[in-house]
Parts: sequence; C-alpha cells; structure tokens
Amino acid sequence: MRTRIAVLVAAILGIVLGLANFVRGQSAHKHVDRIFVKGQVWTGDDQRPKAEALAIAHDKILAVGSTSEIEALASSDTVTVDLKGRLVVPGFQDSHLHFPGQSVNEVDLHGAETLQEFQRRLSDFAKAHPELPWITGHGWGYSAFPNQTVDKKYIDAVVSDRPVYVSERDGHMGLANSRALQIAGISGKTSDPPNGHIMKSKDGEPTGEFKEAAQGLIYGHIPPRSQEDLYQSLLRHSDEAAAAGLTSVQDAYTDMGAFPVFERAAAANKLKLRFRFAPGILPQEGARGGAPRNHKLTKYLTEADLEPYRKLRGTFQGPLLKFGGVKGVLDGTVDARTAAMFEPYVGGGTGIPFWEQDDLNKTVALYDQEGFQVLLHAIGDKAINMALNAFEYAARTNGTLGRRHRVEHAEVPRVSDLPRFKQLGVIASTQAMFANPDATVLENFAVLLGPERASHADSFKIYDDAGAVQAFGSDWGVFSFEPLPAIHCAVTRMTPEGAPAGGWYPAGRISVEAALHHFTRDGAYASFDEDIRGTLSPGKLADLVVLSKNILEIPPAEILNTKVLLTVMGGQDTYRDKDFQ
Ligand SMILES: [Zn+2]
Repeated sequence: MRTRIAVLVAAILGIVLGLANFVRGQSAHKHVDRIFVKGQVWTGDDQRPKAEALAIAHDKILAVGSTSEIEALASSDTVTVDLKGRLVVPGFQDSHLHFPGQSVNEVDLHGAETLQEFQRRLSDFAKAHPELPWITGHGWGYSAFPNQTVDKKYIDAVVSDRPVYVSERDGHMGLANSRALQIAGISGKTSDPPNGHIMKSKDGEPTGEFKEAAQGLIYGHIPPRSQEDLYQSLLRHSDEAAAAGLTSVQDAYTDMGAFPVFERAAAANKLKLRFRFAPGILPQEGARGGAPRNHKLTKYLTEADLEPYRKLRGTFQGPLLKFGGVKGVLDGTVDARTAAMFEPYVGGGTGIPFWEQDDLNKTVALYDQEGFQVLLHAIGDKAINMALNAFEYAARTNGTLGRRHRVEHAEVPRVSDLPRFKQLGVIASTQAMFANPDATVLENFAVLLGPERASHADSFKIYDDAGAVQAFGSDWGVFSFEPLPAIHCAVTRMTPEGAPAGGWYPAGRISVEAALHHFTRDGAYASFDEDIRGTLSPGKLADLVVLSKNILEIPPAEILNTKVLLTVMGGQDTYRDKDFQ
C-alpha cells in the first residue's frame, strides 16, 4: 500500500514538475553530466558569492551549493571532479583584444636577445618555409644589435634570396633586407612619406629600417594573409587563450575579411572561445593588422551604409559568435605623444584628435539610433571627453538609454569627467597590464604626462570609485592576454619583479575580488551577456576555470605562481593542465 502511494505521489510530482518545465518553456534535459565538489567556488554572484560545489547539465550550470547538495544530484554515470579544495571562478573574459593575431607563418623574434639568436631564428625559419615568397616576423628589440643600431646587412647575411621584413616589438618600426628594398623600389633617392621615416646611413643609403607610416612602403608589397593562415592563427591563439583561462573575448577591430575563418572554426566545432566582434565604424585605411593610423571622416554615413552591419548582426547572434558593436579610434598613444590631451605633454604638443566633435557626434548618433554599441578608442583626456560628449549627444538626440557605449583604454581621464561614465551608462574598457610600471611606463609614459596626470593614469580604482562599470582586457597582440598576471598588476601596481616597492601610485590599486569581477561579470555586461554568463549561477552557461591556488587568499606576489588547471566553456573542457587529476 505504502509503495502504491509512493508511486502515485511520484507520478503526481512528475506531472507537476513536467508541467512546471513546460510552463517555463525549459528543456526537460536535466541529466547531470559532471559535478565539481569539495572546492572553493567564487561565483561572482552577489546572491550566493561562495559555494563548495556545482553541477553541470549539458552546457549549463544546473546548481551551485554544498558538496552534499550537489552530490545528491548525481546519477550513476555523472562524472565527479574532486577539486581538493581548489578555487573555481567564472571563465575569464578579455574585453579588448585583436584576433586572429600574429600569423603562424611568421618568425617569432620575441626574446631574441643577441644578434646571433636573431639571425639563427631567421635562418631556421627561412629554411623550414621554402614555400613562403616573403619572410615576415615580429618581436625584435634594439638591444639585440651592436650599438643598438639595426641594419639590413644583419638579415642579408642569413637570408638574401627572398625579401624579409620583421617588425620591432611594439610595431612602430621594422627592418627589411636588401631584396625587400629592391622589390619595393626604395633607394637613397626615395623621400619620406608623411608621418614616417626611411632611415638612411651617412652616405645616404637606406639602412633597411622603416619608422611609423614609412612601413607602408614595404607592407604594400607583402602578399595579404591567406584565409588558411588566418584560420590556423585563430586556432593556435585560441588554444593559448583557453590555457590562460579565457572563455570569452571581445575583438576590438574585426577585419571584415576575417569573418569566414570564425565561421569555419564554428562549423568544425573547434571554437574554444566565445567571440564578440566590433568592426571599424568607417572603412579601414592605411593600417595593416595593427591600429588604424587615421580615421578622419571622409563623408557622413547614411542609414544605407549600415546595411552590412545589420546583416552581420543578423548572422552572429551568439552565444559563440556575436556581433553588436562597432569600433572607432579618437587618438593615438601617450608614448608616441599622439593621445589627445587638454594640456601639453611635458616637452610640448597635445596630440591631435582624429575626429572633429561634430562629425563624431553625428556618426555615433547614427549607430546608436540603430541599436549598435559604439566602442571608442580614447586615451588622452581630450579624446575621452570627446567620446563622452558624443555618447551624451546620441542619448539626447535619440532619446536612447542603456546602449552601454564604451571608452576603450580610457587611460588618462580628466577627473571632472569621471562621474559622467556612470551618469551616461558608459563602460570603461581598461587594460590592467597598462599599469605595469616597467621602464616604458616610468621613463616615458609618466614623464610625458607629468606627476599630476600620471598620478591617476591607468588607475582602475578611480573608475570603481566613480561607480562606472569597468571591463578588463589586454589589448593582445600588444600585451599578453593572460588574466592572472594582469590581476597581479591591478592589485599591486608592481612589476612581476616587485618594483617599485609598495606599487606605482598605490592609491590606484584594487582588490583581487574587484579585478575578478572586471574580468568576468563586468565583461559579460559589456557584451550584453550578463543573463547567460559572467557568474557561476544556476541556468548560466558553464564557463569556468579551476586555479591551482586561491588567489583571493594568498599574498598577491603568489598570483604569479598560480596556474590555470582546467578551463571549461559551455560544459566542455577547452584546456586541461597535465598536472590536473
Ligand atoms: Zn586595441
């Protein structure tokens, strides 16, 4: 009798639950595929900030709770992961980087500290790639060369039969060999283009070194990257990003020609990151792979010009590939004295904004009216001010709210502009590693700004204090996209070596918890994805990372010795360290 009642109760319960699922429109698929237990779960969710365990059903988090609560959900074929006390956090989001990144068919010269090593890598690469018509590469530094002076002869000595062009670490300079000069038709008689220098020796011969816009004279002769090359780069760098704990990224200037490689990777089920795209708001000009040099408005856009963007939005709706933002560039960088400032740099010049305020207002308003989020690169206080003005104009003109427009980098804001971020609902899209106080920052960046402006430059605390939403990114390929060293930097404002003691302008330091939010929840918000990811909450996508140490509790220096052990995106492992399990 008791059994029959139990069966009856179970049947009624089943109907009620089934009905509840039906009413809520949910799938009945609640089989628990995997549980993570006996750990420390930092959810990022204010409703339940901490837990011990979580359960994954298909691609989502089914439940978060204590180990016993979660174990009770498991069935016989559920996989159990014993976390052994380790920390789990939501998958990291990088809110500003540049995919597909450096070609896999280029020689990597990073860390080549001597001339011998520079030449060895070039020579080995050329021998290994007889099929390439040009040898290109990236990452050398002046310190590898005698008297810090580069010359084409150093490349000619190892590769002379094919043209070679290799760019310096930050991409503002490059070195060609004699064959490349010959193909590009560069001689002692060739004069400098605007904004660039062809370096010449005392006797007037080109040395092979090209600075800034002069690089275009060579780039114009290098065959464009093939789709296969872009695809292989996407796969390789996605692997590296997954190993760093990333599960989502915002691409900050998507090349319109690169979309097919993302679609190919998605179709082949090979995506290891969620991508959100932001192509340029005007046709790209001049630049090759890097930041655009100049975006002066050539004409006002019309509604019809937005058609390609509307199409893209229809095609890429997430959750793996998503489009909804466009990127504009308002100024350059502090280091090059091209960031637009209200007051002169120490040594003179205020940089020049790439846009007139009126042109910018109208262009931003047009995208805003169509429901697009606008990302504006603005580093100097003048450019940041202009970006905020344009967002304010768009909201006023269109009567729109909640577009979540973004200022990219936002390195040197005017203090009086800080409250406007919150007032206008504008996101500060900042890069934690920009505050790494290395020689470039201390001896160039800070010196050019002078102490007053430097004291609040790349200060992540001021945005938090102003109540702005702040999304962290890396600006990779300029900097590494690893979030853990970036968190260390945001928390200490010291180099990995621990200098300067106490941190560079330590008032700008933030807590590990704040940095984690900026790399997870706030990035999801900046992508309009906070309902489906960004925290470890029931019903959200199962994007998570297992770390070797609890970075919320260890001394900050130890964050640098913390490893990503496992990265999970949508319930699937995208990276697993050999030492895990
Ligand atoms: Zn960038």
